[in-house]
Amino acid sequence: MGFDVVVVGGGSAGCVLATRLSEDPGRTVLLIEAGPDYPDEDLLPPDVLDASQPTVDHDWGYSADADLDRGIQLPRARIMGGCSATNACFAQRGAPQDYDGWAELGILGWSFSDVLHDFRRLETDADFSDQWHGTHGPIPVQRHPRSDMNAIQAAFLDAAVAIGHRVVEDHNRPGEVGAGPSPRNVHNGVRMSSAITYLASARSRTNLTIQPDSVVAHVELSGTRATGVRLIDGTLIEADRVVLAAGTYGSPMILARAGIGAATELQALGITPVVDLPGVGSNLVDHALISIDLPASPSAGPSRFQNHLTFHSTSADRDGPPDLMMFPAGPFAVDSGVESGAVFGLVVGLMAPRSRGWVRLASDNPTDAPRIHPAHLTDATDFDRMIDGVVEARRIARSEPLAAVITGTELSPGPSIPSDDAQALARWVRGAVATFHHPVGTCAMGADPTLGAVTDAHGSVHGVDRLTIADASIMPTIPTGTTNLPTIMVAERIAHWLQSRATGDRA
Ligand SMILES: Cc1cc2nc3c(=O)[nH]c(=O)nc-3n(C[C@H](O)[C@H](O)[C@H](O)COP(=O)(O)OP(=O)(O)OC[C@H]3O[C@@H](n4cnc5c(N)ncnc54)[C@H](O)[C@@H]3O)c2cc1C
Repeated sequence: MGFDVVVVGGGSAGCVLATRLSEDPGRTVLLIEAGPDYPDEDLLPPDVLDASQPTVDHDWGYSADADLDRGIQLPRARIMGGCSATNACFAQRGAPQDYDGWAELGILGWSFSDVLHDFRRLETDADFSDQWHGTHGPIPVQRHPRSDMNAIQAAFLDAAVAIGHRVVEDHNRPGEVGAGPSPRNVHNGVRMSSAITYLASARSRTNLTIQPDSVVAHVELSGTRATGVRLIDGTLIEADRVVLAAGTYGSPMILARAGIGAATELQALGITPVVDLPGVGSNLVDHALISIDLPASPSAGPSRFQNHLTFHSTSADRDGPPDLMMFPAGPFAVDSGVESGAVFGLVVGLMAPRSRGWVRLASDNPTDAPRIHPAHLTDATDFDRMIDGVVEARRIARSEPLAAVITGTELSPGPSIPSDDAQALARWVRGAVATFHHPVGTCAMGADPTLGAVTDAHGSVHGVDRLTIADASIMPTIPTGTTNLPTIMVAERIAHWLQSRATGDRA
């Protein structure tokens, strides 16, 4: 027996899609997730509930190419809720210009004025109710009040303002640049994933089937029409429409194993190409991250992600979105090497990267991890802007009142690498850069497949019938904020388009 729709991947996007598409009791929906499902909040492991820091206990265990990217770890959740169930709960949108830029690429329906409706629809903002914010959506968003902030968080805000950054009360208000409390999708200390918000509200529906612990190998095709999916244990699941939401690394690999991808790459792996789409797996873009580490008293804790600063690099257009973000993380207790016993990071993210990498199949075996090249800072201007961020982090660390909370000399990069030693600092940055965990773009929307587009503006895969992608992979460029809410917005938008298709093409 087939389903009207099968949604592959129960992550940030997949839980939204399954929930919205099953609102019509006449549509049968199957949600398949590779990881486990904890259908009741009481059953969730404590680290998944605890919003104070990210967790990697339910993870695919991916790492980057060892030669190209030093084999850095690239966490991706494998659990119902996906990365929304494991992440740091920053609930940002990016800037209006990010989405207007998509529309300028010819991707119609994605300008900021188009997507604002979905950003409002997905949230209930506890602090603001105006034209920018939602008050009735499934995801609760709140900011930590000053009384909640630990000593490091409060001192970071005050130091940033003391050296000239603006105070920002609401980072999700368009045009705001500066330091202030982070909007976070947290309620009573619990991480508000798309599983315990959206999906929880739909679980009792008889037309929704939830199948955890099942890994999809590839899309099944009849000619160039999607007819279902094949699990790695060989099980065939038939459906009138397949919606991929397996994330930036998962979705392009499910396409490629079906023969949808760059024909020459597929042939080299012994996979027969069905639709030549050179963009599948290319255009990988991620926010690069680097941390300067400082010693602090363990008593400065315990909360870890409460505030952030946005600012422009020296080369950025000051009328454009801020291209750098900074936040304090920690303190984290350490066993040795630090007299005071705790370390915190001033973490800098490059939010408008130009570098582009890729994800590719390592083999035709669906249980093999993909090869991933995030290519952080390979663009020279990205590198220079990250250095700007590090220099600014050090300036804030030296400023009161934050300087008073730091209990000794900088641990990393450390005093032997001063900011005016450009070569030494550059060497350190190259060796320390990591992921901010926001990869997008590997099945990018666009009009022209020969120029790398994988889907059209509605997420429909070029050259394939009844196959849609609706997750972070279809973003053509990366938003200048963290990517969870933008991904949920993408899923809301595409679910709405799928819901309104004519009867007879119900999915
Ligand atoms: C450690 C960490 C911290 C982060 N912090 C933040 C933050 O604070 N704020 C923020 O906005 N963003 C953050 N992010 C990023 C954000 O969570 C992601 O951008 C977003 O969750 C992506 O959603 P998605 O639906 O595209 O993919 P995912 O949420 O990754 O969902 C994909 C799902 O598909 C499943 N899947 C994959 N392949 C298959 C297959 N073959 N068969 C079946 N199922 C499959 C996966 O198991 C997963 O559940 C963080 C990410 C990580 C990893």
